[in-house]
Amino acid sequence: MDIIADLHTHTIACGHAYSTLEEMVRGAKENGIEILATTDHGPRMPGGCHPYYFYNLAVLPEVIDGIRVLKGIETNITDIRGTLDLPVAALKELDIVLAGMHPLTGYDGGTEDENTEAMINAIKNPLVDVIVHPGNPEFEVNVNQVVEAALNNDTILEINNSSFRKSRAGSWSNCLEIAKAAKKFGLEVIVSSDAHFSQDVGKMKKALQLIKKANLEEKDILNTSIERVTEFINTKKKVRAKI
Ligand SMILES: [Zn+2]
Ligand SMILES: [Zn+2]
Repeated sequence: MDIIADLHTHTIACGHAYSTLEEMVRGAKENGIEILATTDHGPRMPGGCHPYYFYNLAVLPEVIDGIRVLKGIETNITDIRGTLDLPVAALKELDIVLAGMHPLTGYDGGTEDENTEAMINAIKNPLVDVIVHPGNPEFEVNVNQVVEAALNNDTILEINNSSFRKSRAGSWSNCLEIAKAAKKFGLEVIVSSDAHFSQDVGKMKKALQLIKKANLEEKDILNTSIERVTEFINTKKKVRAKI
């Protein structure tokens, strides 16, 4: 299975990543990635980008050094209502909007029911395209409810390669459960690197092992085809434009 797009990556702008966008583009080229989404952390993340950063992404070309660059954000889910940390006017202009739960950004996690409610509220938000690292054990959720909500709202769930590093230890079993449920319900997922350094763009070895274990195939993974990624992005952008 060929992964042609990395839809979750960070640059030096977000405060805790180590490469510029041009370096990330170079990493994409070196690692066989044709579409790179730059999705820096939202304003509530300590050291995260100011809203101006996201408004100003419009100055970037669509293609940099032969790589298609999608302008995006990894927003923070800041409360149980699923509130995001960027104004709607800014979110509407982006190519891709990721949403995830992170400590120290407003919502530090509650019971499984509360986390599930917060995540489903973000899933229902038509501004959101992808829920990132839903298997994070710091924010346990009801997997079947989350997968079902994603299916009903055309929201994608992510299998995040960086979750299998130390920072989100314990993610493997949760992510496997999510991947298996996605297979059962027929929900598409994306696999992404969550790279915070240029050499990690497109690196998804562990996540792909998990995908295999859950019997997910190429057809179940959105970012295996330029056409599918493009169609998804265009469809979601049209939905956002109407808000
Ligand atoms: Zn980060
Ligand atoms: Zn994240």
